[in-house]
Amino acid sequence: MNDPSDAFHLTSIGMIESDFPDKFGIPRQPGLATAAKASLVLLPPYDDPLAVRGLEAFSHLWLTFVFHLSPGQSGPADWNPLVRPPRLGGNTRVGVFASRSTHRPNRLGLSLVELVDIDTSRGVRLWLRGADLADGTPVLDIKPYLPWVESRPDALAGFAPDSPPQLQVVLSPEAEAVLALRRDGDSLRELIHQVLAQDPRPAYRRGAEERIYGVRLRDLDVRFQALQERTGPTLLRVVEIVPAQ
Ligand code: SAM
Repeated sequence: MNDPSDAFHLTSIGMIESDFPDKFGIPRQPGLATAAKASLVLLPPYDDPLAVRGLEAFSHLWLTFVFHLSPGQSGPADWNPLVRPPRLGGNTRVGVFASRSTHRPNRLGLSLVELVDIDTSRGVRLWLRGADLADGTPVLDIKPYLPWVESRPDALAGFAPDSPPQLQVVLSPEAEAVLALRRDGDSLRELIHQVLAQDPRPAYRRGAEERIYGVRLRDLDVRFQALQERTGPTLLRVVEIVPAQ
């Protein structure tokens, strides 16, 4: 049992609004879906424009946040010392502290995101690009990214040495027809391509499948299937796009 003095009281300084209503389909790291729109809305009393004075001079930010959609409300029983990273196919175990797993003590996340704009007309809203965060994610802190100290291209990256491979994505005529009717159709098409290219299916699912999966993006449910041409690689086909329930 930890000493009670090891417990810290943290409060959300803001909340994420994003294109990802739930966690399935969100790219597994930031920067992989640059078409994803997100903003961080600061909460009182942190929504004081003075608190972000000077931030506009930085292009990238570190966000510390809580994986609020992961289990963990009831303490230590909710974490396991070993996790199975998708990068290793979902079967090989590594230590939780050797991973970026969402199932971890304290459920703390850390993402490097691009800062696009700051709106202080009503409170404070930071417009972001490349966030890998579900809508409603509570944010605990913001820090500017310093490339001269925090960019280490020579660093060892363990079981994830390179960016993940991407799948080809195609849209059915029915899906294209839905996009054609929407004002945000072009940005949505780009988002669908970027999200599905990461292959959001569970890591132990590879290759073609009968099953149809659904990823929620904005107000829509994007339904897709994994296909395999006779000799070619797996590709993901968007079968239909319907309003999310
Ligand atoms: N870059 C971050 C980090 O290392 O802390 C995130 C890594 S984690 C593997 C990325 C995944 O977190 C996403 O694919 C998504 O499924 C999940 N996720 C995003 N927001 C979440 C939230 N609020 N609660 C639980 N899971 C979330």
